[in-house]
Parts: sequence; C-alpha cells; structure tokens
Amino acid sequence: MRDIDHLIVGGSGGGGAARHGDVFDPNSGQVQARVPLGDRALLDRAVAAAQAAQPGWAATNPQRRARVMFRFKELVEQNMDALARLLSSEHGKVVADAKGDIQRGLEVIEFCCGIPHVTKGEYTHGAGPGIDVYSMRVPLGIGAGITPFNFPAMIPLWMSGVAIATGNAFIMKPSERDPSVPVRLAELFLEAGLPEGILQVVHGDKEMVDAILDHPAISAVSFVGSSDIAHYVYRRGVEAGKRVQAMGGAKNHGIVMPDADMDQVVKDLTGAAFGSAGERCMALPVVVPVGDRTADALREALLPAIEALRVGVSTDDEAHYGPVVTAQHKKRVEDWIQTGVDEGAELVVDGRGFTLQGHENGFFVGPTLFDRVTTDMSAYKEEIFGPVLQIVRAPDFETAVRLPSEHQYGNGVGIFTRNGHAAREFAARVNVGMVGINVPIPVPVAYHSFGGWKRSAFGDINQHGMEGVRFWTKTKTVTQRWPDGSVLPTGSEDGGPSRINDAFVIPTMG
Ligand code: NAD
Repeated sequence: MRDIDHLIVGGSGGGGAARHGDVFDPNSGQVQARVPLGDRALLDRAVAAAQAAQPGWAATNPQRRARVMFRFKELVEQNMDALARLLSSEHGKVVADAKGDIQRGLEVIEFCCGIPHVTKGEYTHGAGPGIDVYSMRVPLGIGAGITPFNFPAMIPLWMSGVAIATGNAFIMKPSERDPSVPVRLAELFLEAGLPEGILQVVHGDKEMVDAILDHPAISAVSFVGSSDIAHYVYRRGVEAGKRVQAMGGAKNHGIVMPDADMDQVVKDLTGAAFGSAGERCMALPVVVPVGDRTADALREALLPAIEALRVGVSTDDEAHYGPVVTAQHKKRVEDWIQTGVDEGAELVVDGRGFTLQGHENGFFVGPTLFDRVTTDMSAYKEEIFGPVLQIVRAPDFETAVRLPSEHQYGNGVGIFTRNGHAAREFAARVNVGMVGINVPIPVPVAYHSFGGWKRSAFGDINQHGMEGVRFWTKTKTVTQRWPDGSVLPTGSEDGGPSRINDAFVIPTMG
C-alpha cells in the first residue's frame, strides 16, 4: 500500500494526519494507496511558505518565469508514459485518454511560455498635456485551485500554469480520488526550477476546501467540480472577499440535423458519449435527432457501434473505455439507469451488471442507450456522468435549439449538419457557453478560454487563455506626468495648455 503525501515546503511532518482517504485501483476494485486529508493547520504552513516565496517570484522577470514553463514542458514530455500510467491506474481511463488529459494540460503550459507577451500592459502617450497613462497586470498573491477527479492532469495545469506564470504562488487541492499525478506534476515543476513555495499540493476533502475558502491570505480560488459544490465554493469564497471562478457540472446535447453525415455522427457520438466512461464534463450524453426519420436512422446505426465498444482494463490498448472511478460512482450511474426506466424512457441497451472476466470487482459499467427520453424526466435533467447516452427526439430545429438552451446546465453543445446557415443560426442562438459545429467535444484550444454558462459555471471569468490571465492578475493603472517647468517643444497651436505644469484637468477628448 502506497502512502501519498502532501507536497509542502518543509515536508508535511510525515504520515501523522488524523484522517485518510482510500485511493482505489478501479480496474481491480482494490485500495492501492492512502491519501492524508489535511486540515487548517497544514494549510497555514503552506500559506506561510507561499507568502515567503511569492514576492521574489513576482519580481522575477517574466522571461525567466517563462523559462521554467519551457523546462517543465520538456520534463512532462519525457515522463509522459509514466504519468499516463499513474493517472490511468487511479482514474480508470485508458492510457491513450490519460495521455490526452496530460497533453491538453501541457497546451496551457505552452500558452504560458508566452507569458511575457500576454502580460504586457497598455500605454497611452499624451493622454493629457504631458500626461501618460499606463496599466500593468499585477499578480494577486496567493491563489488556490480545487480540482475534480476526472481530469487530474489537465485541470490542475489549467489553473497552476497561468497562476504561476503570472507571478502568483499557488496551492493545489486535487481530488482525493486520484491525487498522485497532481503531486508528480508539482515535483516536476520544482525540477524545472520553480522556487520552493510557489507551487504546493495539499490533500483533503471538505475540511480542507473550507479552510482554503476562509483563509484570509488566499486571494483567489479556482474550482472545478460538480455544480452544487461549485455554487457553494463560489458563495463562500466571495463572502470571504476572494476572486472565485467555479466551474460545475454539465449535460451536453448533440443536435443531429436530417442532413448530417450519419457515419461521422455515430463515430463522434460513441467516442463523446462513452469515451472515458462518460466521465467528462464535455461528454455528449444527450443526442437530439431532428425528426423521427433521423431518430430511427440514428438509433439503428448506433446499435452496432455500441455493440462493438470494448470495455476493458485501463491498460488494455484495445479498450475504448475502462472502469468508472469508484464503487459508489458505479452504483450512482446504475441507479440513474433505473430511474430512467422508472420514469418511462425506453432502455435500448442496458449496461448494468457488467463484469469483466478476471476483474469481477472492478468498477465497470457497460454502455447504455435510452430512447424516447423526455424533458420532464429527472434522468434527463440531472448529470449522470457515466457511459449512458439518451436520445431525446425533437420534431424540428426550433425545439432542438430550445432543449439545450433551457437546460439547467450550459457547458457544451454540438450540432451535426451540412447546412451552414442552420449551424450559424444555432451557434448564435443557443444559450450554452461552448459550441461545436460537426465537432463533438468542443473544448477550446489553450489560447482561447474554457467556460460554460448557467449552472455549469459560477463567476464570470473563464479558465486559461487571456481570460485565465485576467483571472490571475489585477490591473494597476498609473497616470503620470513629470513636471520640470519647461515649455513643451510642440507649442500649443490649438490654444490648449502649453506647460506640463499647468493645472491638471481630467483629460476630455472634446
Ligand atoms: P466533486 O464536486 O465531487 O469534487 C470536486 C472537488 O470538490 C474535489 O476536490 C473535492 O475534494 C471537493 N469537494 C467534494 N465535496 C465537497 C464538499 N462537500 N465541500 C467542499 N468541497 C468538496 O466533483 P468530482 O466528482 O470530483 O468531479 C466530477 C464533476 O466535475 C462533474 O460534475 C463534472 O461535470 C464536473 N466537471 C466540470 C468541469 C467544467 O469545466 N465545467 C470540468 C471537469 C469536471
């Protein structure tokens, strides 16, 4: 049994934590490691180390900060296989998916390699007589990130990369379900030359989250997880005067227009609905075919594709997806399938009771397909977060726009069509934050930003890209003049003030 430790300056003081959590191997169902669940006293130590280190890091010129990012990227690439296997062994996603998880996080680090350029301020020469105005982006000080189990590399890197590159110290509280990769990434940051205290990892559950939210020295909190907890984190953090971005759950819809390329749709849908066992906030668990003929054709084409899906252990290179993360989560997904049945949806493929020979105690759920799901069903309204695809039939395009627009979640949405006008209308009108047009999982590239709408995100600034830079910095604006009593060389042909030490009036452009 492995013991996972916090990564704080000076060490955590050993395994003396009062409480621990179990980390499972979802393939076997066995506990493979113990993670300590930290408390306020441990956080205080991390914060003290962050406070000591941060001013020096903020004063380090941005090119040097960027060089740490370059070196870190190289180190992660060198360690890619080992990281992916570690990630896969705690999460249960297949190794290829685990590499994707790390790669999407690394792309944010690539963005951070350009931090000197994107943090350049604004400057106006001559905003008034002899007056210049400039603004600069200043780090917030100490930030914290609280992350979910489903992307244990990408999401910690979304947050830590931008927070650190902009000159903050960052304290990461990863999911206690799969905490090893975030620790390993922090170790690689240190190896890349990041000063001690700039990135620390504290483990824990609600007690640690509350300690972070209440800590007066932490200026900003970035959270990703389920919506009720996101809302709670947002409220409590804001109440304590912090800047908070809190991303929540999702129930993304894929609209299939009658003119869509059905082969492509089926390929995209099976990947987007069942890949990573459906444990992605940008999965497509709801498909909305427009018209009964489209629905019937889609259902017919989906059946053999679902049958061909291979569920296997996460190290099986041939497997399309592996187990879900815990036994509780498996039960939750299966309970939702029962709820769908009880509410009157047509269960076409039932993934409950799935077992894998030789891995009978693993947390596997077979692919599940429902047809004739309706909007009044709680199994439609709520996030299931498992390998369950629901067909909701829409009679027309207007209904197809309305369904995702009126859903409580608004993370991502896709439309499959060959009609550019329909796609354009859809993208403009749908009330959802990220839209894919013939793209099933529209996760924006790192130099754009990631964020949903409605109950998929609380707060108003997205993750990474320039939005991330804005989140992790505050703007200082300086209005300056340098009086020396001399006459300005240009004179004042327009009759305006000619001396820089004339009384300063707020410049108006008139
Ligand atoms: P979760 O909400 O259970 O946990 C997220 C974090 O909150 C963890 O670090 C956990 O320790 C902490 N936490 C758990 N219970 C808490 C409590 N009562 N009080 C305070 N903190 C608590 O989420 P999860 O199961 O780890 O992740 C899956 C969820 O995350 C899904 O809902 C998924 O849609 C969502 N998600 C959203 C995005 C996005 O960008 N919108 C991305 C990935 C995952």
